Amino acid sequence: MKQELKSFGEIALSRKLLQAIEDMGFEEPSPIQAGTIPLALEGHDVVGQAQTGTGKTAAFGIPTVEKVRESYRRIQALILTPTRELAIQTAEELNKIGKYKRVRTLPIYGGQSIERQIRALARGVHIIVGTPGRLIDHLHRGTISLEDVATLVLDEADEMLDMGFIADIEEIMGAITCEERQTLLFSATMPAPIEKLSSRYMHHPERVSITKENLTVPLIDQFYYETRDKLEGLCRVLDIEETGKLIIFCRTKRAVDELAGALDTRGYSAGALHGDLSQVQRDRVMKKFRDGRIDILIATDVAARGIDIDDISHVINYDIPQDHESYVHRIGRTGRAGRKGVAMTFIWPREYRQLRLIMKLAHTKIQRRELPTASDVLERQKELIKERLLKVLKQDRYDDYHTLISDIVDEGYDPMEVAAAALLLSLEGSGESREEEQETFGNTGGAPGMVRFFFNIGRSQKIRPADIVRAIASEADIPGDTIGVINIYDKFSFVEVPENVAERVLSAMHRNTVNGFKVNVEPARRK
Ligand code: ADP
Ligand code: MG
Repeated sequence: MKQELKSFGEIALSRKLLQAIEDMGFEEPSPIQAGTIPLALEGHDVVGQAQTGTGKTAAFGIPTVEKVRESYRRIQALILTPTRELAIQTAEELNKIGKYKRVRTLPIYGGQSIERQIRALARGVHIIVGTPGRLIDHLHRGTISLEDVATLVLDEADEMLDMGFIADIEEIMGAITCEERQTLLFSATMPAPIEKLSSRYMHHPERVSITKENLTVPLIDQFYYETRDKLEGLCRVLDIEETGKLIIFCRTKRAVDELAGALDTRGYSAGALHGDLSQVQRDRVMKKFRDGRIDILIATDVAARGIDIDDISHVINYDIPQDHESYVHRIGRTGRAGRKGVAMTFIWPREYRQLRLIMKLAHTKIQRRELPTASDVLERQKELIKERLLKVLKQDRYDDYHTLISDIVDEGYDPMEVAAAALLLSLEGSGESREEEQETFGNTGGAPGMVRFFFNIGRSQKIRPADIVRAIASEADIPGDTIGVINIYDKFSFVEVPENVAERVLSAMHRNTVNGFKVNVEPARRK
């Protein structure tokens, strides 16, 4: 790799940006950031390649924001991105980076009223993030002027290629006339047309490609839980699983602190470890953890790097690791010295694809597991109470309470009833059933318990039901026989899947392919 950077502070960044990055909770640059940010700051054209989830947005966002002259209220940078969601997300991240420097970034995408965008533009923005189609619209109407654009970024270039945006991109590139234009191109993969685009429109680009060495996964049990409420899920797992010392990984310092606070409120005692703590504070937390005075350590990847403890029973990825390398490093903290270890990963439904990628690149299988239900937790609590009760009975130290009980019995209550009521009292507050997850798709016209999806492929693409079943079963990793009614029409199809896997099917299939055809998947409208 080009640069071995340890901290953002070692990159020549202004204080305002460093403070903003600090607020975002990033502890150190990811490899693609360490490789590309300095080159971009020096003014080079840069082609950066690294897989999804490795921090490419900040890799171009930081130098782009740094370069903007905030007192000059014109569009100075343009970022092209394939979808409206990405445009919004990217603009949000850039606004965070530019928070103190007061650099304003506006997303521009189709589907939003063009008049509204024109008004927003008129208020003066420094950077726009847009989808190619809508930008072309504005260019043709003359509502956006690109004459001051000195930085052009193509983000997710391979996706834009797949979506057929190449001609639009070329048109936009042609419209940016600034002599000293700097162009940054980021992509997870580098197909030939992207290579061609870079050599045609970029000026001696520096190439930074982050490829991962092969890592071996330790032989431990690996599970994942998919949920929309990770905190609740984590608590249930902690309540039910027999654990020894465990480490919970979060992605940012802020997330570590938040989780530590949330667990504390719920009565679990955990130690937090991250880069903001002084050496003394870190040592104190580590000593408690080592001595077993706390069982749970919550850490960022960076902070956990130095930890050397042999008897960790569980590693929990509360945030999905950013790549397979980090996954392997994290879970390698358990199962040491011949002990048994367990690794658990919590994902949001939309992160399923990222998990699949980790499995593929790390050559490992992470098994799906259902979260314990509220009644599982209650059962387990009853077992624990029984164990503790028996222990107290054996120790015979409860003389003080004899008179209290005999008073109650004298009032006419049965001793069995009294004992049960005492237990209820000790359980109170912990065993109420929790609200079930609410459905998110509304009425899609599916059978009860099913969500009906619209697929924009059908007979014209020679699609048969078996093709759809096979694709969904393998991509979303669900048994094919749980898929419900499939109706295939000329240009589209309807497919019903069980509610509990619907979100996963959507995230796995949308913009994926069936028989080589790219598909759009949406929840169907009610019949
Ligand atoms: P990519 O574009 O490569 O798929 P993103 O830029 O979307 O990746 O980043 C993925 C996630 O990682 C985001 O949530 C982002 O906030 C986070 N992230 C980026 N850089 C860092 C960093 N240096 N430290 C911690 N988290 C980071
Ligand atoms: Mg990205």
